Amino acid sequence: MTLQQRTFIELEDIAGIEYICKHCRAEYLVPIEHLDRVISQCPTCKEALIKAALFTDKAPAEETLLKNFVRALMVLREAQLGIKLELSVGSDRAVSDRA
Ligand SMILES: [Zn+2]
Repeated sequence: MTLQQRTFIELEDIAGIEYICKHCRAEYLVPIEHLDRVISQCPTCKEALIKAALFTDKAPAEETLLKNFVRALMVLREAQLGIKLELSVGSDRAVSDRA
């Protein structure tokens, strides 16, 4: 017999976004309600956390994408769609993404 554990979160369960500096590994957790401002630079070592400038004419800046994500999350929360997000905690993908 094979058991599979599935983990779901509701949109209201998303409490914040954590920045992790690729250089010094410092972590900064920002509550979702305070994400009107974006941390673009690591306060510890000054490494860029996200890119504010455009990559190309077709790709929006990471700062814009992050702000759009937060706005969309807030709108979806208010819409009360009854949707949940499935997490893949402990999978090979989740581990390799942190490397
Ligand atoms: Zn840093």
